[in-house]
Amino acid sequence: MEYEAVIGLEVHIQLLTKTKIFCPCSTDFGATPNTHVCPVCLGMPGVLPVLNKQVVEYAIRLGEALNCKINRFSRFARKNYFYPDLPKGYQISQYELPILEGGYVEIFIDGEYRQIALERIHMEEDAGKTIHKSDGSYVDLNRAGVPLLEMVSMPVMHSPQEASEYLRSIRKIVRYLGICDGNMEEGSMRCDANISIRPKGETKLGTKAELKNMNSFKHVEKALEYEIERQIAAVENGEKIVQETRLWDEKAGITKSMRSKEEAFEYRYFPDPDLVPILIDDEWIERVKREIPELPKARMERFVKEYGLKEEDARILTDDKILADYFEEAAKASNNPKSVVNWILSELLGHLNRENKSIEDTIIKPEHIAELVGLIDKNTISGKIAKTVFKEMYVSGDAPGSIVEKKGLVQITDEKAIEELVVKIVDANPKAVEQYKSGKKNTIGFFVGQVMKETKGKANPKMVNEILMRKLEEK
Ligand SMILES: [Zn+2]
Repeated sequence: MEYEAVIGLEVHIQLLTKTKIFCPCSTDFGATPNTHVCPVCLGMPGVLPVLNKQVVEYAIRLGEALNCKINRFSRFARKNYFYPDLPKGYQISQYELPILEGGYVEIFIDGEYRQIALERIHMEEDAGKTIHKSDGSYVDLNRAGVPLLEMVSMPVMHSPQEASEYLRSIRKIVRYLGICDGNMEEGSMRCDANISIRPKGETKLGTKAELKNMNSFKHVEKALEYEIERQIAAVENGEKIVQETRLWDEKAGITKSMRSKEEAFEYRYFPDPDLVPILIDDEWIERVKREIPELPKARMERFVKEYGLKEEDARILTDDKILADYFEEAAKASNNPKSVVNWILSELLGHLNRENKSIEDTIIKPEHIAELVGLIDKNTISGKIAKTVFKEMYVSGDAPGSIVEKKGLVQITDEKAIEELVVKIVDANPKAVEQYKSGKKNTIGFFVGQVMKETKGKANPKMVNEILMRKLEEK
């Protein structure tokens, strides 16, 4: 039988606010455990939470970018459960009235755009962190009360690749919006996946498993792939799939049953009496809307139109806002944006990728890429020498013009000088000339090589070729 996987994702986005969602404690990552805490986030009795307005603004920003319905009235609810890293005994979240509903995330897969429908996005606080060591378990509450947006997709994805493209799109958008750094490895973007299988053509949903503990795009894909195979094998064996939470074991490459999955009613949600409902008016939405920067797809389309780029190149550039900004700065300083793209995509990213670095790490200034392209276009240096110059720029961060000058790399375009050299080399190699004359036209490569060796690669290659041909024909 043929099966179809049905996947829905729950993504937690950690917001880049300076302070926590209900208290003035810092959200900085990596501080000494339990130093960013106060009576509110420690869950002391008798304290009152106060909502951080920035969290609501960021939610509106995301809602606008994803075409969600922004609820004018929403409120917080208590999600009750017991765990050592949750001292209050409940997490403040939103339940029956979330701030955002509907909307979609656009993904690009198999050469086309697809919309992944969203069910809802709600605001909530993060819990603390439990760290298990050999001598015991420790609780760090620095993260307790850090603001999150939880995005719940509809169960409309059918392949692991689709799921990871969906995550990549979210990462891209939240980074453009400046509301989250999208770092899955550090946990500022976390993902749980609900996955079930059903016979192809069936419309009813099968029993789902919830997968946790996947901290990179690659692991989300791997875990889903494994789980699809596991469920199909179980069904084919006549076993019943049970609703449960499963942990992805990165080292073993398998998912393991953790516990049976709770139903929502087990959390005994109820409206939080300590917090007033959130009211949002049109004016507020309009103001936030004006602060939203150009989003990736619009920017990609503009790059194609404004700079004449290939769609594929424009897409790679706009995948990352910092890379797109870098390109645009370089392109504005140049009158040859197409060449600028090539240098950024093949040389600069090539060098960075080899060192496992990203565009933030380069010391080459964008205007220096423009300057390098200008030097080639003006025939000051050849494309080949430009690569040598680039390598120097990559290490020192110096301007290409000054590198060319310092190292004496200016291209030789003096026709007489090249001609003299060509004559000298032709005369010194009668055997090669004979070969050329006998029809072995590719012997010309040998002569070009000799000229380049003599000039340390600085002779204008086009002129060398032309003069060589002429001189050899004259022989
Ligand atoms: Zn606090």
